Amino acid sequence: MQRKDETMLFCQSCAMPMVKEGDFGTNADGSQNTDYCVYCYQDGKFLSEITMEEMIDFCAPIVSKGNPYNSVKQAKVAMLGIFPKLKRWKEN
Ligand SMILES: [Zn+2]
Repeated sequence: MQRKDETMLFCQSCAMPMVKEGDFGTNADGSQNTDYCVYCYQDGKFLSEITMEEMIDFCAPIVSKGNPYNSVKQAKVAMLGIFPKLKRWKEN
């Protein structure tokens, strides 16, 4: 088993790992955007203008079903450590 963590891309808005083509967002010209995922960014703009806290509230239940976190609380704590470092939230 070989892991390629160093080349793994994470969405710079919601921290979702982007592994296959359909995971990536799209630029205004239809090309692939490697910074953001398809759920956050399409056609050159964010799908929803929300705050970092709202994004964490939205994502926590999704990632807390035992993969990778076991509870919403655990997910939120982890996300509060990760999200401020992401490109979308760092610039604000
Ligand atoms: Zn995303």
